[in-house]
Amino acid sequence: MSTIDRNRLRTLQKREEFRFLADHPKSAALYQRAQSSLLGGVPMNWMKKWAGAFPIFVKSAKGAHFTDVDGRDYIDLCLGDTGAMTGHSPDVVAKAVGRRAKEGVTLMLPTEDALWVGEDLQRRFGLPYWQFTLTATDANRFAIRIAREITQRPKILVFHYCYHGTVDESFATIENGVVGPRRGNIGPPVNPAETTRVVEFNDLNALEDALKHHDVACILAEPAMTNVGIILPYDGYWPAARELARRYGSLLIADETHTICASPGGCTAAWKLAPDMLVFGKAIGSGIPGATFGVSEEVGQRISARIHLEDCDVGGIGGTLAGNALSLAAMRATLEYILTPAAFWNVIQLGARAEYTFSPAPPRNGGESATAADFELERFLHLYALNRGVLLTPFHNMALMSPATTESDIDAHTKIFASATSELTSQ
Ligand code: PMP
Repeated sequence: MSTIDRNRLRTLQKREEFRFLADHPKSAALYQRAQSSLLGGVPMNWMKKWAGAFPIFVKSAKGAHFTDVDGRDYIDLCLGDTGAMTGHSPDVVAKAVGRRAKEGVTLMLPTEDALWVGEDLQRRFGLPYWQFTLTATDANRFAIRIAREITQRPKILVFHYCYHGTVDESFATIENGVVGPRRGNIGPPVNPAETTRVVEFNDLNALEDALKHHDVACILAEPAMTNVGIILPYDGYWPAARELARRYGSLLIADETHTICASPGGCTAAWKLAPDMLVFGKAIGSGIPGATFGVSEEVGQRISARIHLEDCDVGGIGGTLAGNALSLAAMRATLEYILTPAAFWNVIQLGARAEYTFSPAPPRNGGESATAADFELERFLHLYALNRGVLLTPFHNMALMSPATTESDIDAHTKIFASATSELTSQ
């Protein structure tokens, strides 16, 4: 392995920054105009973090490609960070959404689509009962509330460097055995040490030590970590972790929002995980806001015993637009026609999701993966790819593929990646 010459990296980075500016005059003008109406010039603050001086503004997207306002076409290996994992605007979803938009979007009443989707989710994941929210964050928050309510325990357990959306309890990391707010945690309501136990992934002893306190309502986990690089479980990890959760009375919530890429029933079906609850968002409606959580028979009964009709609308689980007709129409079309068994295929280790890391061996947990991160090098690789028509997922090095992604899209990425590394390492 050769090390990176940082001076060379900075020179190449400058060159790419100039190229980016020259190639995107219309995006630059829109970004300039946006300064006076959008805080920081972007609709959401993290959009500032893309590699390059400003985010490129999109004109349209279809399948695995999009076009920006400067008329440049991109191979999209970000796909809205999974929201568009089905490919951008699949025709069947556009049609179902268009129809529903004309026939009533939100009513606070169910449509038959909800049943169709519930029955489909039952078959995919093996859990009997389903509820719908607008985002995966909401689904996680509600699953956590339910777990605390039915176990009457105060804490949740997450893995070091996990990400489950903007869920307060999950914004915690552990340093030298002490739990604290994750770096960048904006205005935490309380110190997350009060709400959360944190352990490294793939460490069963640490998990058991944490569960032994008998105060953990639930483990909230991605079956494979995907938000700090991709970290796969060791052989036998999940069966043992599942057993520990049962032994200590904690519920297991599988957040399949990203790991749905592993199979039509996510890792839960592929690895027979048997969680007590399951969360799935983003791609479930091809990016139309909507998400779901499912519960086991036992959890369903425990919920019914504790949550009373009179208070169920103001108990912290809900959302006026949750379960709306438009979301459900998008979910039905997505599940029926797009996220079908035929659409799933395998790249490296987690279905259609691949990730580079800057370490000689694959990281085994969140701490190792976070240590391998290299912000400077990552920005360069992202900008280099963007300047040559490939959009990688921001904030880590993930390439996500959709059924619309072609072999030539992947070959184009491989060529660009090879040329970036050769420029970096040639003498
Ligand atoms: N769960 C996982 C595993 C995620 O990666 C994310 C977002 N990246 C979420 C939940 C939250 O999704 P959303 O931001 O759509 O609420």
